[in-house]
Amino acid sequence: MNERRPLVVGNWKMELSHKGEAEAAASLVKQLKTESQEAEIVICPSFVSLAEVADVLSKSEKVALGAQDVFWEEKGAYTGEVSVMQLRGVVSWCIVGHSERRRLAAETDEQVTRKAALLMKYGISPIVCVGESAQEREAGETVARLTQQVKVLLAEMPLSALTKIVVAYEPIWAIGTGVTPEMAEMAEAMLMIRKLASERYGREGAEKMQVIYGGSVNASNAREIASEPGVDGVLVGGASVRPMEFVRIIREVIGR
Ligand code: PEP
Repeated sequence: MNERRPLVVGNWKMELSHKGEAEAAASLVKQLKTESQEAEIVICPSFVSLAEVADVLSKSEKVALGAQDVFWEEKGAYTGEVSVMQLRGVVSWCIVGHSERRRLAAETDEQVTRKAALLMKYGISPIVCVGESAQEREAGETVARLTQQVKVLLAEMPLSALTKIVVAYEPIWAIGTGVTPEMAEMAEAMLMIRKLASERYGREGAEKMQVIYGGSVNASNAREIASEPGVDGVLVGGASVRPMEFVRIIREVIGR
């Protein structure tokens, strides 16, 4: 890990009710009261619960709020979408390019990049998910897929963006499956992502960018994953909606 605080992000997806999200946030705040602030913690509930969860989080300085997605246009006739202008002032983080969005809404690398750029414009830190599918992995196309995603993302980004942007390496075959890559395979992919940034901005620039891992992280594997070189934190889906387990993951990530 580099000198930055490790990042632990909870993606609550569509797992809880509105009431359940407020309760989970309240439980997390309570449990974190006596914990140190060694990790930067972000939770990403559904859009409808953002305001209520923000209210709960206002009682704690230990947890920041994120959204699970944003639309790639700033404003206009886009029924059902949520814009960056609507998120501004409510969240400080936002996940984009999650593989579930790429698959269900056929989002392209270019659209994901537009989202990330818009978020940066409005002062919200993007957590950009990249990763290969099982088929791409079997076909030996992991490097090509990651290269494509990261190159499109970084093509127009100024060097100053690297302190705000987070790349989450999420092998699609590891999401929600209980299967994680071998540590060497994971580390290789994550070092490659940083190398791509290094080719564009130089080594010092690339070191500023946080690269985190996501895919079946739980309290039993978080420590091993987070202690791999080049891993700046974790993005947690399923296990993050259980506040007790999420707190255990945070402790494992900071090595306690
Ligand atoms: C995710 O959805 O980003 C994720 C990593 O999910 P899970 O932890 O459930 O695999």
